[in-house]
Amino acid sequence: MERPNAWKSYDEEQVKQLEALCSDYRKFLDEGKTERECVKLTVSMAEAAGYRNLADVIREKQTLKAGDKVYAICMDKTAVLFHIGTRDLEEGMNILGAHIDSPRLDIKQNPLYEDSDFAYLDTHYYGGVKKYQWVALPLAVHGVVVRKNGEVLNVVIGEAEDDPVVSVTDLLPHLARNQMEKKAGTVIEGEKLDVLIGSQPLAGEEKDAVKAHMLKLLKEKYDIEEEDFLSAELEIVPAGKARESGLDRSMIMAYGQDDRVCAFTSLAAILDMDQVERTSCCILVDKEEIGSVGATGMESKFFENTVAELLDRTGNYSELKLRRCLANSRMLSSDVNAAYDPLYADAYETKNASYLGRGMVFSKFTGSGGKTGSNDANAEYIAHIRNILDEEKIHYQFAELGKVDIGGGGTIAYVLALYGMEVIDCGVAVLNMHAPWELTSKADVYETKKGYEVFLRKA
Ligand code: MN
Ligand code: MN
Repeated sequence: MERPNAWKSYDEEQVKQLEALCSDYRKFLDEGKTERECVKLTVSMAEAAGYRNLADVIREKQTLKAGDKVYAICMDKTAVLFHIGTRDLEEGMNILGAHIDSPRLDIKQNPLYEDSDFAYLDTHYYGGVKKYQWVALPLAVHGVVVRKNGEVLNVVIGEAEDDPVVSVTDLLPHLARNQMEKKAGTVIEGEKLDVLIGSQPLAGEEKDAVKAHMLKLLKEKYDIEEEDFLSAELEIVPAGKARESGLDRSMIMAYGQDDRVCAFTSLAAILDMDQVERTSCCILVDKEEIGSVGATGMESKFFENTVAELLDRTGNYSELKLRRCLANSRMLSSDVNAAYDPLYADAYETKNASYLGRGMVFSKFTGSGGKTGSNDANAEYIAHIRNILDEEKIHYQFAELGKVDIGGGGTIAYVLALYGMEVIDCGVAVLNMHAPWELTSKADVYETKKGYEVFLRKA
């Protein structure tokens, strides 16, 4: 059943709204290239929209009521927002959940070394990357270094016009006869993804003079020592801003759109909410790309604990009410889908593929092979979602992630489904997913943001 292209349905006013939203989206992508940067951005946007920090509400023993808006953060890498509705929390929330971590190269804890008058930082890749895509392109360093006294230094190198960039080198084709014989998975090996950061020796230094020069620069600019890498979280990401793509400017090319395209549209939707009946919730979570692990991943108790605090502040906490609130909730597990690429047609089953420009993408199943690791959205729930989206003329499509035997992928859906709540995977189609530069359609960003609003209001 082919779904129509959303572009065909737009009038002038809608195109204007679409362009305004996508311009905000590009700014969000530029300022939020790591999970920490996304959380910082989320907090500032939420506070501007009248949200209060739940930690302050708890400390000051304030109470919460319908219409109140609060956010909570975990270790500066995960955020959750609530807009309290007029109905009892026990009746459940409408939840949008997206992840804000993206594939990248993380700097190791003992990273710095010198070889042949070059200084390098050794990296350990994060998430599913095709390693050969990360060589010979301008890269930036984003993250934090935390001193022993607890002081947190924010680092961004490689984004300003006059900033230097760093890179991972590749072998010239003239000498690559052996390299080109290798399989794509090993043509660039993980341990070869070392970032070249300098080549000028420090005057007067005999041994490892380039490394010494780097340490001197780090000391001057950030007042950090080599040992401070031990307590640093530095991420190597593609340098540069999100761009419009295509001669018609119909697409957006940028790093980290998996899953910041869903994070941004979810956030934009909840911040635009006026009054709601069921409490609106937006989860922006870390660590999805490596299995939702750790204190800041979806499997952590952070979310559940925060909902307990929320119930408590509304004067309604009990263990049973918490269980009911979670079980009665409805969720869109908002994550990207693999857009159909005609150049790689044999990886897709075209009837059940997502297409750029055809609106938000729903997946009944994720997982791989015989649906292993999948969440199975309930048919009754899907019918309800179809109904409210059709009422509001939202463009949407249903898809799986490629041919059944070819691969697959995970999302956070299965984690929330454990509470017994209704969950379906839903998001935006992406081309070049997990590549340094990913592509989305502006029409899909627009439809998804509108669809999320409908969900928060009506689900
Ligand atoms: Mn994702
Ligand atoms: Mn991913």
